[in-house]
Amino acid sequence: MLLANKKIAIVGGGTGGLTLATLLQGRGADVQVYERDLNKFARVQGSPLDLHEESGLAALAKAGLLIAFKENYLPGADRKLIVDEHAKIFFSDHESKVEENFGNPYFRPEIDRGALRKILLDALAPDTVVWDCNFQHMEQAGQGWLLHFKDRESLYADIVIAAEGANSKIRPYITSTKPFYTGICMLEGNVYDAKTNTPQIHALLNGGKIMAFGNERNILMGQKGNGDIGFYASFKADEDWVTSSRLDYNDRQEVLAWFKQAYPTWSDIWATLFEHAALPFIPRPIYCMPANNANYGLPNLTMLGDAAHVMPPFAGEGVNMAMLDALELSEALTSSDYESIQAAIASFEQKMYSRAALAAQESLDNGERMHSPQALAHMLALFTSH
Ligand SMILES: Cc1cc2nc3c(=O)[nH]c(=O)nc-3n(C[C@H](O)[C@H](O)[C@H](O)COP(=O)(O)OP(=O)(O)OC[C@H]3O[C@@H](n4cnc5c(N)ncnc54)[C@H](O)[C@@H]3O)c2cc1C
Repeated sequence: MLLANKKIAIVGGGTGGLTLATLLQGRGADVQVYERDLNKFARVQGSPLDLHEESGLAALAKAGLLIAFKENYLPGADRKLIVDEHAKIFFSDHESKVEENFGNPYFRPEIDRGALRKILLDALAPDTVVWDCNFQHMEQAGQGWLLHFKDRESLYADIVIAAEGANSKIRPYITSTKPFYTGICMLEGNVYDAKTNTPQIHALLNGGKIMAFGNERNILMGQKGNGDIGFYASFKADEDWVTSSRLDYNDRQEVLAWFKQAYPTWSDIWATLFEHAALPFIPRPIYCMPANNANYGLPNLTMLGDAAHVMPPFAGEGVNMAMLDALELSEALTSSDYESIQAAIASFEQKMYSRAALAAQESLDNGERMHSPQALAHMLALFTSH
């Protein structure tokens, strides 16, 4: 096999990196994940993720983790409401959706990010992930790479996979292409114990998701398994909004005042999210890699997930693409069809970048629609056509 006696370094232990590690280790490869988080207990923020049959769930099935997924997903969390800024309901599938419908391509079961990470970590041999490893730079050494981390000894690997997300430091070793700003910024908040802290929103959410649209702005949210809510205020803004807004994201009153000024026509029910969110709020300017159908085909270096093709989250494809990348890369690297690792990487990249280009375009188009004056009508048309 191509990977015999090869040390593989996966930099970044997010969903993409951990899925790849699980799949490669399952095929007997010598793989190590280097992750910046201090340890496996680091809190994973963000609202739940929906996994898709042909990508995220396919990767889990290949890794033998579908049973673990079924034990940990959030039944009913895929049910959604589409509302306007006054919380008037225009669409609900709470009554029509069946709870468990695996195998149906329209069934997109939700899972907490933390639960998904735990499933993948539990599947790996102990010590596969090296925590508190903040990658800084690397240089070629013999047939492989010498990787340097902050306050750590340097390490050699024959093959390096960049899986460290949107701000990848390894990407520039592969390409000079950089993500561009999409014109959309999201402000993330998390409300702990939503039943107590935001009872009205909790009741409206009813264990599912809400998409609220009004005046070219929106609020998106999802119920987590532990009773928390993850929410995002999403709006058009200049690229430097994070600093030019001069907001202190640790100051609830400041952020609340910003919300009332930026979402002036929105009902007070939404303000309760900002009044009770845990601090700090997290601003997330949304970037996208240009779709260039690249195929870099380097001998011992490639990337996957957001490092390769960060895209806006408006088609729910990011994590699914990262997991499908992991599945396809693991298959290419362990296949007997290729004469060299370089050929396996080239074949993987060719498929990955053309697939990701389509998903990125869909995400960009949805982002435009969701922040347009007709956002509510667009989203109603989209969901009622399913
Ligand atoms: C606001 C928002 C909402 C989203 N909602 C959805 C959604 O609903 N559905 C969906 O499918 N996708 C969604 N996404 C996208 C999704 O989060 C990403 O596509 C997905 O997490 C990509 O996985 P990844 O493994 O490539 O990268 P990441 O999940 O970003 O993981 C990268 C890992 O690398 C580590 N790391 C970073 N730098 C270093 C370093 N220097 N050294 C070592 N380790 C490092 C990080 O700590 C992290 O663990 C959303 C994104 C955003 C911003």
